[in-house]
Amino acid sequence: MSYPKLNQLKGWQLKKMLEKRQISSREILTSLFDQIHKENPRINAYITLQEKQAKRSAERIDDLRLKGENLGALAGLPVAVKDNICTRGIRTTCGSKMLANFVPPYDATAIQKLKRADAIIVGKTNMDEFGMGSSNETSFFGPVRNPYDLERISGGSSGGSAAAVASHMAIMALGSDTGGSIRQPASFCGVVGLKPTYGRVSRFGLVAFASSLDQIGAITKDVKDCALLSGVICGHDRRDSTSLPEEEVNYVESFDEDIENIRIGVAPEYFGGGLDEEVKKVVMNGIKLLNGLGMKVEEVSLPHTDKAIATYYVLATAEASSNLARYDGIKYGFRAEGDLELAEMYCRTRSQGFGAEVKRRIILGTYVLSAGYYQAYYAKAQKVRTLIRDDFNKAFDKVDVIITPTSPTTAFKLGEKIDDPLTMYLSDVYTISANLAGIPAISVPCGKDSEGLPIGLQIMGKPLSEDLILRVAYLLEQNLSTPAGFNFKLYPESMG
Ligand code: GLN
Repeated sequence: MSYPKLNQLKGWQLKKMLEKRQISSREILTSLFDQIHKENPRINAYITLQEKQAKRSAERIDDLRLKGENLGALAGLPVAVKDNICTRGIRTTCGSKMLANFVPPYDATAIQKLKRADAIIVGKTNMDEFGMGSSNETSFFGPVRNPYDLERISGGSSGGSAAAVASHMAIMALGSDTGGSIRQPASFCGVVGLKPTYGRVSRFGLVAFASSLDQIGAITKDVKDCALLSGVICGHDRRDSTSLPEEEVNYVESFDEDIENIRIGVAPEYFGGGLDEEVKKVVMNGIKLLNGLGMKVEEVSLPHTDKAIATYYVLATAEASSNLARYDGIKYGFRAEGDLELAEMYCRTRSQGFGAEVKRRIILGTYVLSAGYYQAYYAKAQKVRTLIRDDFNKAFDKVDVIITPTSPTTAFKLGEKIDDPLTMYLSDVYTISANLAGIPAISVPCGKDSEGLPIGLQIMGKPLSEDLILRVAYLLEQNLSTPAGFNFKLYPESMG
């Protein structure tokens, strides 16, 4: 019998072993970096690695543990961080040429919290440029490949984080989610991803894409790890004006609470045209399973669902066009070469520094905000956003959680949609509404399609009901007959 390597274990398992001093953090990092050196060249999940620094931190934490010091909740556990979350002294590229050499002078609040919990940052993960994409193909640093099939995309925009966790190159990771960027790659890579309630995790130090939608969240191998990491990064922060007053919580503790009386809502709008039959079947089975465990299932209606994509692509691009105005070659990052007049320098810097998708969004966003079109597009989209939020409020009068597929399909092929932005945008159809409504949503592996590609099930809840959706996700994970989650074999060579 062969034992799993340390990098193949879950965070909570390693935490126990560390606390009992059966293993050292240094040993975890050795096995993790062995895997990274082996797999990253083909999966391309990391943009920047921190091997030396991480190993040094591990030694320091191992020493403190030996001395019997009190350590944080993630002491000695490695965490990978999406490359749009500012890390002091570690370059933070946002997957863009514009910030390819940008080294932040400060840490995002989520990073400060990780450090306070004695976690170890191992590297920065690949992503769609500025978070704009659903396949990780818009990254300046090249696409991330799906560990289940290297010819397929990892999903996006947190594709690097999801693929790193799925291929045992990370124990746990941070991602960010503006319209599905944590949940969709988690679904495509067979891992767990939670987008918290808007305001639950501080956005301070998260490079802004669409500020009214962006949230940082956890991508992990299982639900328990997701609860562990989400509990560490949440909590009020006075440096983010949209931060909610709630303090940190221990989500893991709520796993034991009673499940009776939990009502699951199923909305027909999420099971209609465009949904792959195999995905539908697997998600329906997941719902049946929870029903069999004693949860009630009721039909709810979310009538404005079909307006979500259009609404999102007006609001997100409007906000992006404003947020990305700061990349002008003066204050941050890339500047075009040559002795240029100011206007010419702006123009060349932005033309050369941004990729095609980012430019498309800036142009679209500037258009919907321009005089004469503002009312027709931006103001209208804000109204529809309220209708979408109202749909959820009404549904949550009847039920406690709403279950849907995370994505209408499994991971698609590299190159399949990249030249067709509209088709690409449609792949976010089930994830975007949670961002528009500001509610928490988790993707949890629920099965596979006939080609062996992972299928994610999405659980959405009322604002601040992370504990409940984590609990439902945990029950699903624990009761699936063939573990859909992490006990799978990667493509054969990598298990060596
Ligand atoms: N795929 C969506 C987009 O391209 C969502 C991205 C995200 O959540 N950052 O905008």
